[in-house]
Amino acid sequence: MNRIAVYSGSNYGNRTDYQEGANRLGRALATRGIGLVYGGSRLGLMGEVANAVLDGKGDVIGVMPKGLFPKEAAHPGLSTFHETEDMPSRKKRMAELADGFIALPGGVGTYEELFEMLSWAQLGIHAKPVGLLNVSGFFTPLITMLTHTVQEGFMKESHLKLFCVADNPDELIAQMIHYQPPALGVKWKQLTDLQR
Ligand code: AMP
Repeated sequence: MNRIAVYSGSNYGNRTDYQEGANRLGRALATRGIGLVYGGSRLGLMGEVANAVLDGKGDVIGVMPKGLFPKEAAHPGLSTFHETEDMPSRKKRMAELADGFIALPGGVGTYEELFEMLSWAQLGIHAKPVGLLNVSGFFTPLITMLTHTVQEGFMKESHLKLFCVADNPDELIAQMIHYQPPALGVKWKQLTDLQR
């Protein structure tokens, strides 16, 4: 695994644990020689994870859309900075550059990116590992929601295996390195019924 894209809050959140979790993830990436791909900001957990990788002498690629965020939000010290035309091309570029994806705690921007990668995984558009770094149980309610989604018949149970979960970066990265994509089968029960 050469590079991982990290999606994370552009705020710090209300617990110091979140900042500490982002810092530990950045250090774990640098120690393993895994490059960071991220949104290019110096704000919040985004800035924290980038600084931790840079402190560990790791490689950091920032990918930002032109003009969408204030100029002063951009991190000034990255190894490489890419500017894209817009948000969709930014997300596509990040996905192409990375061999896997990790979500740290964050807001709807983080969720959007995480769910896009999960949705692409269940459609077979990519077969790369997606990981949730469950710092202080932040993602537990989201995992409960996904289990509920399966119980209510809107998601296949096997698709819960499309993401890895751990509360520490070492375990999460190890799971992602050994990730084997589940057999996807047909996503739509109605089509499976028709084929009988
Ligand atoms: P949020 O979780 O709502 O704070 O949004 C974080 C995600 O949205 C990041 O992973 C970025 O891709 C994007 N994002 C939000 N704010 C910024 C910013 N100031 N600079 C660059 N990207 C941002």
